[in-house]
Amino acid sequence: MIKRELYKVENNKLIRERRFCPRCGPGVFLAEHADRYACGRCGYTEIKKEQKAPQKSEQKGKQKKQA
Ligand SMILES: [Zn+2]
Repeated sequence: MIKRELYKVENNKLIRERRFCPRCGPGVFLAEHADRYACGRCGYTEIKKEQKAPQKSEQKGKQKKQA
């Protein structure tokens, strides 16, 4: 699967929101990944809030699980 959404361009400008780490406080930026932010200091991880379907490996089988 090829991800082409590493960069998001909206209205001809790059969105580069920098987020601070809520644990370390202002001054410590979260490193931006393709789909999440991560703090290299304390290990905090924040999933980006995008309206995307969760990319879980779907198992297409004919097994019906009864809850
Ligand atoms: Zn942190």
